[in-house]
Amino acid sequence: MAHKFIDNYREKGARKKLVEILKDRHIEDEHVLAAIGKVPRHYFFDETFWNQAYKDIAFPIGDGQTISQPYTVAYQSQLLHIKPGDKVLEIGTGSGYQSCILLELGAKVYTIERQENLYNRTKKVLPHMGYHPEFFCGDGSKGIPEHAPYDKIIVTAGAPVIPEVLLKQLKVGGILVIPVGDEKTQKMVTVLKVSETDYEKIVLDTFRFVPLVGDQAW
Ligand code: SAM
Repeated sequence: MAHKFIDNYREKGARKKLVEILKDRHIEDEHVLAAIGKVPRHYFFDETFWNQAYKDIAFPIGDGQTISQPYTVAYQSQLLHIKPGDKVLEIGTGSGYQSCILLELGAKVYTIERQENLYNRTKKVLPHMGYHPEFFCGDGSKGIPEHAPYDKIIVTAGAPVIPEVLLKQLKVGGILVIPVGDEKTQKMVTVLKVSETDYEKIVLDTFRFVPLVGDQAW
């Protein structure tokens, strides 16, 4: 797929409308809405499909890959309560769109993808767009212990259970956001690490993610 990095009035206008759609769906965090309003989502699409880029839908973008639905990205981002400078681990790089949103929120992003072709592609595309997370290829269900601890961890694939290792890699006061359930549907779960041994868990809405495949997952 040939990426074309031109942000025309039509795409800018469509992006503003997307922000309004997300507001109507109760995404209220102004910083998250501003980030969605800034990241050119159409850069992840072939030009033929630019008219699909600002619909609130997931979309196949080649290499057997799907870019997440904007609502889902905004929903998870909002739950992370990112503060500028936060060290964030993202598990499931995929297209890299979620990474761009986290970077716009001021996070330092470590992102890991298990599929080598996706890792290679996203590692190449994002810097062209001006986004520079730290890219890793491997099984993110084990986290990235070498760079732990993290202020926040976001898992963008559905897990059968919360991997214990991820909780270990969180700082005290840190937040994990992870979809947990079976292969078909998952509940969004947030976990606040209150102390080295205590956690507060909140179970939220239902989503459909591709499975988290790995040692500590499916
Ligand atoms: N965050 C992505 C975006 O913004 O486009 C969407 C991610 S997609 C829904 C889920 C990704 O998680 C897939 O690319 C999949 O290959 C990856 N994945 C699944 N299990 C993984 C694992 N154990 N470690 C790292 N990545 C994994």
